[in-house]
Amino acid sequence: MPLEFLRRRAGEPTPAPTPGPADASGTTSHALPEEVVAQEHQLRLNYAAKTSEGVRIKAGPKALADLPQMLVGIATSEIEVIEPLPIEYSQATPTIVRPSEAMQWLNAHHMLSPIARHALVVLETVDAVDLAFDTFVCAMLDGETDTSGYPEYNAIVGGAAAHWDEVTGDMIVRGVVGWGGRGVRGDSDRIGSKILTSLLTNIMASQYSLGLTAVERPAVAHGQGGVVCPHCGFASAHERAFYCPKCGMRLTRG
Ligand SMILES: [Zn+2]
Repeated sequence: MPLEFLRRRAGEPTPAPTPGPADASGTTSHALPEEVVAQEHQLRLNYAAKTSEGVRIKAGPKALADLPQMLVGIATSEIEVIEPLPIEYSQATPTIVRPSEAMQWLNAHHMLSPIARHALVVLETVDAVDLAFDTFVCAMLDGETDTSGYPEYNAIVGGAAAHWDEVTGDMIVRGVVGWGGRGVRGDSDRIGSKILTSLLTNIMASQYSLGLTAVERPAVAHGQGGVVCPHCGFASAHERAFYCPKCGMRLTRG
């Protein structure tokens, strides 16, 4: 559809919204108006998250199986376990303008519930979880979903994120909460903090808990990929891992 400049006559305060008819010769005016009449379009997205200190959990297969228990009594939806991503999804990012990254992300996560996908969009965008090394156990924690099942902007989502300590092989678990979207509400921060405290309490209460720890999250090293786990066959995207991000067994290097 061709654009037509709005024509403005002296003494006319507002230009007519309808396009002016072509003049007698059948051509339109190419004169620039004095001032562009702009319509404003804007969207403010707000994403926020909080993570707790890490709790050291004694290494072993039972530690992984115990993760969903840490959300019992807090989750208000089904508890989902999202495993670390293998090497073929090492570039996965929820950014639709980057088609290759977006396709990887969708292929990796299309089977998750709307709640889990929303949680990943919020928490990955603000770098609160990283599926290169995190196992993320996730649910709705407060608030409502819309009619399609997606959390409202003021709903709190999250749970527990776990990775393997590269020195000891113990599991480090931290509480994670997040919220956001097309809106912001004043009390989300306070509700989020309260839920984070409950999550940390539950994590500490695990029978395998060894207490709070100051271990840093692993340095992100997305790249050509690391080692294939001889125990579970998982091909890690995290090239510096000494412990399999999926099963926690020690990796061997060739
Ligand atoms: Zn493994």
